[in-house]
Amino acid sequence: MSIEAFRAELGDIPQEDNPRIVQQRSRDHYWYSPVLKAKLDHVTAEVVVSPRTIDEVKTVLRAAFRHDVAITPRGAGTGNYGQAMPLAGGAMLNLMNMDKVLSIEPDRVRAQAGAVLEKIDHETRQAVRGELRFHPSTYRMASLGGFIAGGSGGVGSVRWGGLRNLGSILGLKIITCEAEPRELDLTGEDILKVAHAYGTNGIIVEAEMPLAPAHDWVDMIVGFDDFIEACRFAEGVALQDGLLVKEVSPCAAPIPGYFNRHQPYLKQDQSVVLLMVAPVAVPALELFISHHAGDLRFRSDNATEDELRRLPPVYELAWNHTTLRALKVDPTVTYLQTRYPTVEHVRRIVDLLGDELPMHIEITRQDGKVTFAGLPLVRYTTEERLEEIIRIHEDNGCDVFNPHRYTLEEGGMKRTDQRQLAFKREADPKGVLNPGKMVAWENPDFDFSAGKAWLFDGLNPVH
Ligand code: FAD
Repeated sequence: MSIEAFRAELGDIPQEDNPRIVQQRSRDHYWYSPVLKAKLDHVTAEVVVSPRTIDEVKTVLRAAFRHDVAITPRGAGTGNYGQAMPLAGGAMLNLMNMDKVLSIEPDRVRAQAGAVLEKIDHETRQAVRGELRFHPSTYRMASLGGFIAGGSGGVGSVRWGGLRNLGSILGLKIITCEAEPRELDLTGEDILKVAHAYGTNGIIVEAEMPLAPAHDWVDMIVGFDDFIEACRFAEGVALQDGLLVKEVSPCAAPIPGYFNRHQPYLKQDQSVVLLMVAPVAVPALELFISHHAGDLRFRSDNATEDELRRLPPVYELAWNHTTLRALKVDPTVTYLQTRYPTVEHVRRIVDLLGDELPMHIEITRQDGKVTFAGLPLVRYTTEERLEEIIRIHEDNGCDVFNPHRYTLEEGGMKRTDQRQLAFKREADPKGVLNPGKMVAWENPDFDFSAGKAWLFDGLNPVH
């Protein structure tokens, strides 16, 4: 690998090599995990390159292929698993200069990979009163390309499912990393070759996404003395086909205590359900709350302008913002990503783990079924205990998607996605793109069932 020869071929494409800035740009939000923090803290690239056009992306990838320079793509760097961290050094490929919304139709939008999700929605709302179907709670920062390559779902998934579902992404334009990089337009099932592949098998430069009708969503917070009652209410809301909601999230006490700015509205020791409700559904939702004996603590349509200026939107209390709020108060907590088949599974885990695992659920819809996706907090003590908590989940029929792993497979279904692997052979034959993130590429024989964490050989390279 010759980073100098690589850089010499980039012409006037912006480059940054100040070590402090490069290290900052080599990080994502991996530090939510004490396990990843210990493993990845030292990781840094040698240079950040910031192409402005598709041709410039091709120039970077051509040079990377020729000189064997590792390339790690990066949007806003809000991923949580070290996905956007350059385990093998080399160059960070910053896509945030490619941020244009390219076309808007009533039912779809096409934008460049570096477009920020909130900006996309701003333009589609103005043009056609439409909005992205769902977005991560990092909506105000995250890029479209980073969401597709590194995210899964979020606010709106209660109605529309996640990125993995057919129809959630309409098309992608990607650039391959070969002697002569190709521009490929992927549609249909081909999209899944690259979606949620951490940029290991192609650089996304454009994406086309479906739109839903936009609403002036009303934030609500409903209190419950009993967390399981809060879960039953939340499931009920999602099952009511006539109640148009974008976010439903039960958070067990003491989690609401971490929502600092909302404290004046909350009652101590209550669990809450966070909601985003379409204005047309508000009266019916009020009725539904009263049927469940819920305690409506906050609604944004009754708040003053001054209150609204001071308060974060409810979606910034939800998803991994819940963890962030907790970390700001207690830096020793971390979290897990889980799935509970029924409310009874939630109850069992709450009973078994108590305050060691303050429970946080995101209600989502998967293949038409209302599902309890968990993002519980964990009062972290040791990595061994964390593994035990994972085992307790699995022994009780609950899935865990381990957020304390930096590889695609270990954080996901613990098996190789053969489509993604085959596509990497085609689109990145030298393995230059985001090395160390796809176990199957580095070590095809790795046994995921053995329960050991995989360690990338190239981590900690000496250049
Ligand atoms: P980055 O972090 O920059 O990149 C993510 C991955 O994609 C990396 O592997 C990177 O190499 C790759 N990549 C980036 N751009 C490209 C490209 N153009 N082509 C190919 N590969 C690329 N995620 C959710 O899904 N739902 C949530 O609700 C959610 N909530 C969050 C809350 C908090 C507080 C935090 C810190 C994170 C949360 N996340 C969530 C994770 C993350 O914010 C989102 O997935 C976000 O969409 C990532 O976008 P990004 O631009 O920051 O991507």
